[in-house]
Amino acid sequence: MFVVSGPSGAGKGTLIRGALEHVPDLAVAVSATTRAMRPGEVDGREYHFMSRAEFARLVEQGAFLEHAEFAGNRYGTLSTELDRITGTGRSVILEIELQGARNVRRVRPDSISVFIEPPSLEELARRLRLRATDAEEEIEARLEVARTEVSARDEFDHVILNDDAHRATDELVSVIRAATGS
Ligand code: 5GP
Repeated sequence: MFVVSGPSGAGKGTLIRGALEHVPDLAVAVSATTRAMRPGEVDGREYHFMSRAEFARLVEQGAFLEHAEFAGNRYGTLSTELDRITGTGRSVILEIELQGARNVRRVRPDSISVFIEPPSLEELARRLRLRATDAEEEIEARLEVARTEVSARDEFDHVILNDDAHRATDELVSVIRAATGS
C-alpha cells in the first residue's frame, strides 16, 4: 500500500494520475468525505460524498481504515475500497492528509509513504488561488494546515519536491516500481 500525503495544492492528485498511466495494476482508493462537492466532481469518482451523520455512522461501524478532520470536514479511507482493489490483485494508493498518513503508518507499518512537497508556501498559496475551487476562507484554513504538514515531511519514507510535475511524476513512478517490482 502506498500513502501519498502533502499539503492541499501540492499536486498529489496530478502526480498520482500521472503515475497511474505508467504503472499497471495500481488503483486509487476512493475516500469518503463530508465536504461539499466541487463543480466537475462526481459522487463515487473523486469521493463518496456523504452527510456528517452518515460518516459518523460508518465510523461507529468500524468501516474506516483511518479517518481525520481536515479544514472543517471529515475524510476517511473505507476498508471496503481497499478490499475491492486488492481483491483484484492490484496495489492501492491512498491520497490522504497528515493525520491519516500517521494513522495508516500505525495500522499498516509495511505501507510506503511519500510526501509531496510544494516549492514554497507562497507557491502553494498561488496554486490554491489559481484552482479557485475553494472560498478564500477555506484557502486560508488549508494554508494554515500546510505549515504543520510541511514540518512533518521527515516522517515519510520518500519526499518528492513538486517544482516540475513531469519530473516529480517520474520520481513517484520510480518509488512505486522499486516497491512492486513492476
Ligand atoms: P480536498 O478537500 O482538497 O479534496 O482534500 C483535502 C485533504 O484531505 C487533502 O489533503 C486530501 O489528500 C485529504 N484526504 C482525502 N481523502 C482522505 C482520506 O480518506 N483520509 C484522510 N485522512 N485524508 C484524506
